[in-house]
Amino acid sequence: MQYHLNGFKAGNYQVPDEAREPAPPPPMVDLPKEVDVLIVGCGPAGLALARQLAGFADIRTCIVEQKSGPMLFGQADGISCRTMEIMEAFNSSELVVKEAYQLHQNAFWEPDVQNPQQITRAHKVADARLGLSEFIHGVVNQARLHDILLDGMAHSITHLVPHYNRRLLELGVDRNLTQDLRAHPITATFERNDARQSNQVETVRARYVVGCDGARSAVRKSLGIELQGDSANKAWGVMDVLPVTNFPDIRVKSFIQSKDNGAVMLVPREGGYLVRLYVELDLLGKDQRASQLNLSVDDLIARARRIMSPYQFEVKEVAWWSIYEVGQRVAERFDDTPAGSPDSLIPRAFVAGDACHTHSPKGGWGLNTSLPDTFNLGWKLAAVLQGKSQPKLLQTYEAERRKVAFMLINADREMSALVATRPKAEKDASSVKTGTADIEHFIARQNGFIAGTSIGYDASWLCTGHENQALASGFPIGQRFHSAQAVRVADGRPVHLGHLNKADGRWRIFIFGDAKSPLDAGSGSARLVGFLAGADTSPVKKYTPTGADVDAVIEVFAVFQQQDLAIEAMPDFLWPAKGKYGLRDYEKVFQTNGAHDIFEQRGIDRLHGCIVVVRPDQHIATILPLDAHAELSRFFDGFMLK
Ligand code: FAD
Repeated sequence: MQYHLNGFKAGNYQVPDEAREPAPPPPMVDLPKEVDVLIVGCGPAGLALARQLAGFADIRTCIVEQKSGPMLFGQADGISCRTMEIMEAFNSSELVVKEAYQLHQNAFWEPDVQNPQQITRAHKVADARLGLSEFIHGVVNQARLHDILLDGMAHSITHLVPHYNRRLLELGVDRNLTQDLRAHPITATFERNDARQSNQVETVRARYVVGCDGARSAVRKSLGIELQGDSANKAWGVMDVLPVTNFPDIRVKSFIQSKDNGAVMLVPREGGYLVRLYVELDLLGKDQRASQLNLSVDDLIARARRIMSPYQFEVKEVAWWSIYEVGQRVAERFDDTPAGSPDSLIPRAFVAGDACHTHSPKGGWGLNTSLPDTFNLGWKLAAVLQGKSQPKLLQTYEAERRKVAFMLINADREMSALVATRPKAEKDASSVKTGTADIEHFIARQNGFIAGTSIGYDASWLCTGHENQALASGFPIGQRFHSAQAVRVADGRPVHLGHLNKADGRWRIFIFGDAKSPLDAGSGSARLVGFLAGADTSPVKKYTPTGADVDAVIEVFAVFQQQDLAIEAMPDFLWPAKGKYGLRDYEKVFQTNGAHDIFEQRGIDRLHGCIVVVRPDQHIATILPLDAHAELSRFFDGFMLK
């Protein structure tokens, strides 16, 4: 898809350039007085949480934003493989894939040894993330990702729409009420900042609040949570431009280091013409802000031209630009409970995204860490609010995501140093030394982290069974379910099994069958199905409310290595009758075939098979032998409520 040929146009890329107009902001509606979850901030963290909670008819969510309407352009633009997978969990990956620039290559440019004032291409390589996911790293306007999330919210069962023009003034947590699940211990005061009703104050009471309000989070400050780490000492200029240039890698992500003028990171953007440039600026003095550098976009363009010499770089239009300063910092806590609190203490206020970790934009990790933060938290809040899980589930948010924040900060420190490394030009031009090879090595070494696909959660009661890891070595416990295809028995269609893990709060049990046919009553898979369908201790029987569909809380899929299976030969439990008409669900049984052998691809034990339990956020909770019926029950009994 090509767009922006005659100038950048914000809005829905499904609409042609000539007709595209940004959608008008929704009408102003009074804030509700009382809600279950209050989300402050409509960045990727807030919107991903709202998108997830919007799907629960019985949860009252309110999302509030100080700006006057949805974002139109700017800020983050890289969509990692893992973020794509999460968008698939929201049923929305197709549009992002279609509209984004797909990153297949990286180029590295360095000073020319013969003529160090000019750059030359050192090497061009395939992107190190290719193959880590069924999705490719994409680059698209952050606003477009927001639009797709907003669309999903608006079309959900709760038709959730943000309240714009509201700035959080004050947030209070009534400590006397935090341990009463029915209470609304949060009181938040907002100031309206629209032209008509400015300064009008509204108050919302909430059971839970999530501060997704960015690096200068008012929620974080109200909770007295400190950011720890280095404050900003480096500024980068960023600009989205429509250029005319003879730089040959203008459509390839390029790391460009000049001898004396600093570095540029060039990122091609969606639509074929737009390009983003990150331009290295000077170090900031102590307590100096980037705004005090008094730089204009013309200064950024001039600096980029000097770095990219001898190539011509004429900017025809600047779609967006900013001077971006960051420190590498992590919040001391991600919720309102003191560190080391007992399991029984219920957190009621959380911070997520940039509100609890800040870092440089170079790795493109801001959005790609912020959105998974709330993807981790959303289902936990829903499960506790719906009375399906014990509240101790909420404590795992900080334990799981704070570790990721530290991984992010460490990776960012390393990457920042590498990107900003000045080539060391000796007197003899032939000994010019640059850091682009180091950047390439870093990207190759950290590809799983950069793609988000290797991010895993430590062993806990929620990620357990590591002694059984060898039963499915390609599904590391704690990491996300790495999708692979299998063929659906009922209609022969190859299906990505990872795409069955939707963001609807449900748990999934994947049964990978053993060497015996599932039609053999003595096989491990047949005995497991019998247990799940009939035993009183079966988690499916125990935690599915009376009258609800059999897969309402825990959905079971079966994948067999045997060929020529027939759906009608399967036990009823694997093609259950559901819904008000008792229609059969034909989409739960799969088999391998030559081209799609998930047993081979994910190292699944062909002789014994195994059980893989997948959390509502697609991460693997546990792996068990097929006959570990009691352990399976114990796992769910550890936190679920009838
Ligand atoms: P944000 O996206 O920051 O969203 C927070 C939201 O909360 C905002 O919409 C804000 O208006 C709202 N808010 C704040 N305070 C209040 C309040 N008191 N009341 C109500 N609402 C409030 N990342 C990159 O990878 N590349 C980049 O080039 C890049 N450039 C950036 C430029 C700027 C100017 C900024 C601010 C960020 C940039 N980032 C960039 C970072 C990236 O956008 C973030 O990491 C990512 O958006 C984090 O998502 P978030 O939802 O946590 O927070």
